[in-house]
Amino acid sequence: MDSIRSNIFASDFVARPYWWGGTPRPHLALDDLPPKVDVLVIGSGYTGLCASVQTARGGRSTLVIDAEEIGWGCSSRNGGQVSSSIKPDFARLSKQHGSDTARQVLKEGYRALAWIGDFIREEGIACDFRVTGRFHGAHTPRHYEKLGRRLNSHPDGPALGAHLVPRSEQSSEISTDFYHGGLVFQKHASLDPAAYHQGILDRVLAAGVRVVGYCPALSIEALPRGTGFRIRTGRGTVEARDVVVATGGYTGPLTPWQQRRVIPIGSYIIATEDLGIERASCLIPMDRNITDSRRVVVYYRLSPDRRRLLFGGRVSLTETDTRVSAPRLHDQMTVIFPQLKDTRVTHSWMGFVGWTFAHVPHLGQHNGVWYSLGYCGSGISLASYFGTRLGQQVLGLKEGRTALDDLPFRTRPFYHGKPWFLSASVWWYGQLDRIGI
Ligand SMILES: Cc1cc2nc3c(=O)[nH]c(=O)nc-3n(C[C@H](O)[C@H](O)[C@H](O)COP(=O)(O)OP(=O)(O)OC[C@H]3O[C@@H](n4cnc5c(N)ncnc54)[C@H](O)[C@@H]3O)c2cc1C
Repeated sequence: MDSIRSNIFASDFVARPYWWGGTPRPHLALDDLPPKVDVLVIGSGYTGLCASVQTARGGRSTLVIDAEEIGWGCSSRNGGQVSSSIKPDFARLSKQHGSDTARQVLKEGYRALAWIGDFIREEGIACDFRVTGRFHGAHTPRHYEKLGRRLNSHPDGPALGAHLVPRSEQSSEISTDFYHGGLVFQKHASLDPAAYHQGILDRVLAAGVRVVGYCPALSIEALPRGTGFRIRTGRGTVEARDVVVATGGYTGPLTPWQQRRVIPIGSYIIATEDLGIERASCLIPMDRNITDSRRVVVYYRLSPDRRRLLFGGRVSLTETDTRVSAPRLHDQMTVIFPQLKDTRVTHSWMGFVGWTFAHVPHLGQHNGVWYSLGYCGSGISLASYFGTRLGQQVLGLKEGRTALDDLPFRTRPFYHGKPWFLSASVWWYGQLDRIGI
């Protein structure tokens, strides 16, 4: 690390998520595992916890295990931007699945966004949930026009709750000249992801679920005559009638079929030092989440107390150390906000999001094992919503059905879980962003 680079680090810098300061990691007893349960859930993020609330409240004895401490994966370390994000647009989905399915798939995204607000209110989860909206900036004039065309041709225009903001009015949204206007999605929201995770965990425990961390699942073996599964773990063996795989971007050799279909992609974030409410609020006056039209994504927002900027993105071709990613994110931040060039960084962290080849999540069953995976970087609403639906499917409830259930979950030749193509893709997309295509 050279001296200029090291200047960006505050004296109290830590290489861990900003959120863990407000919500310390849960310390649960490392109990022995029960020999038999109705449902075993592997993975303790939003997907696994939301599925387990359903099965436990539905009367099934449920055990959640995680290889690390509870909530260690993306669900306690994300950017806290809540959206409807089904990534592909209507045209692309229609081409792949026909226009009816395309519309239904997009609707699941809007449903997930509406559902999470209701869920947080009904469960009384204190997590700074606020419907702040999102400003999606256009990085070239051409991209601004494209955003307009996409909005006008969208089959569910009003459901989107979106409007264009021209460059001349952009200062009400963001204090930068970097963008050429943008699109505001009024219904998008923000929250504190670790507080949200803790709130769900509290409901899971209250529902009677056993939750055990530092307990990697090592193998899943089907029992004879379809009577269930025997799961070997780092803390003993359990038999379960149903198994739910909720391992997100950390899906590994335990489930080779799913591993061949989930692409782990590192996403990196920094938190700035305390800027003071006035200075921070000037940057993003409406307190919106911000993304932009570049292919190599950046996403940023103010902290819930509106004192810091949390700035995330992808800043290297290959996965890297969070002390290396921090100065690069700082550089990107100061391209947008030159006024922050002397601002120091107090936190830098990363996690692996689970991507899929079709850019949509997939849920269902393979060889009798349930799974819900691949939210492509937008899992706060989608993991919670599809985790809930999957739990309902395990109970055999028809409200668990979703429009994504029957979508083919594809892999690619020569892909076995290590994305060897990622560096080339990031490099190529970076070039397209640079020349404004
Ligand atoms: C830096 C970053 C920023 C993000 N920002 C946003 C955002 O702003 N908005 C948004 O909507 N989404 C965001 N996401 C994505 C979102 O956080 C995820 O999509 C979501 O949390 C996935 O939840 P999950 O429960 O499926 O997986 P995770 O929360 O990742 O949980 C999976 C768990 O499975 C465990 N596991 C894996 N293998 C095993 C095994 N064999 N045995 C036991 N346990 C195992 C892991 O230890 C892990 O804890 C971001 C992600 C990252 C990393």
